[in-house]
Amino acid sequence: MDYSRLEQLSWFSAEKVQSATAVVVGAGALGNEVVKNFALLGWGKLYLVDFDQIESSNLTRSVLFREGDIGRSKVDTMADAISALNPDCEIVPLERDVRDVLTVGLALRSDVLIGCLDNLAARLFMNQVAALSGTPLVDAGLSEWEGVIQTFEPRTGPCYACGLTEADLADAGRMLSCPAFAQFVERQGGVPTTPILASITGAWAVQEALRRLNASDGKMSTGEPWAGREVRFNLHSNRLVSSKLTRPRDCLRHSLEVDVSEAVAINGRASWEESLARLEAEFRCDVRLHFWRSVRLISCTNDHCSMIQATVQSERPTEPEQPSPCTRCGKQTDLRLVNGIHRKDDWIGTRPAEAGWPEGDLVTVVLADAMERHAVVEGIGI
Ligand SMILES: [Zn+2]
Ligand SMILES: [Zn+2]
Repeated sequence: MDYSRLEQLSWFSAEKVQSATAVVVGAGALGNEVVKNFALLGWGKLYLVDFDQIESSNLTRSVLFREGDIGRSKVDTMADAISALNPDCEIVPLERDVRDVLTVGLALRSDVLIGCLDNLAARLFMNQVAALSGTPLVDAGLSEWEGVIQTFEPRTGPCYACGLTEADLADAGRMLSCPAFAQFVERQGGVPTTPILASITGAWAVQEALRRLNASDGKMSTGEPWAGREVRFNLHSNRLVSSKLTRPRDCLRHSLEVDVSEAVAINGRASWEESLARLEAEFRCDVRLHFWRSVRLISCTNDHCSMIQATVQSERPTEPEQPSPCTRCGKQTDLRLVNGIHRKDDWIGTRPAEAGWPEGDLVTVVLADAMERHAVVEGIGI
């Protein structure tokens, strides 16, 4: 692609844009517009997250989908469309639930996270990852007449949860604790809207990402502070309101802040035993790991059989919650869920990569004196 016209823009750093990484969550009408704009600008790398397939009703608002794509994965279809539009833009399609793939480690490698979602629980999850990683978050949303773009850097300013009511948080809690309910809400979640509103809102969200990226080397002043702002426009009243978001002192999400800047790496391909030994040597004490997600353990305690299998619990479990027969001896097994590991545990010989651990997942390292450090599981790949 020839970017010479873009390079003439006084504020545009082509070099920066071409080496930038973003995570776009949501491949609906908004996600289509966001990804199309990133591709035309020559953006370096995009991780696209959405577990859904294309339905015929998506076609009126989705510039990257065609009739022949109905039934295909949204993110795979987008990746194909972008490779035709601008092959310079590297697309990594992730056909998964955001909660299973958007890790703190992935956010740390990214310049910006863009939410193109229609549900609260997934937005709160992205907000938490932005708060933990310190990666800027642009959240875009649509209703029938209105487009909303919000910018967050929760480390230093308001977060997405700051503006929510108790009732909003209760709904989100219900969605987080019940995957089936969440799936129902997400599938019902399509707001009636137009390609016009989606394209304006999506374009504005990408402009915010560009503004944040280009401002970071001083090439362009952001004018107003970038984070903690909301732009809300209404295509019926033709009114646009730009406002500053506030941070209430009692926002629960803000109490989750931990410092991951000095997180140590855990090799996802090594056994937990090796990793714990390394951490114990590094911190010179007994170490216990605490996970932010659950691990499903199937173990066989029958004579002469010590089969043990660990699987990271998906946010969307597809298998019934019953122990399957032992893969080694065929007898009854035990099933339990765990949220941490210590070197005395029986599943210490297993490896994160074999358990389906997401690349870049955050793990808390609890030291003997109860002090906490953080670690990121790496080397598994995406
Ligand atoms: Zn907050
Ligand atoms: Zn067995």
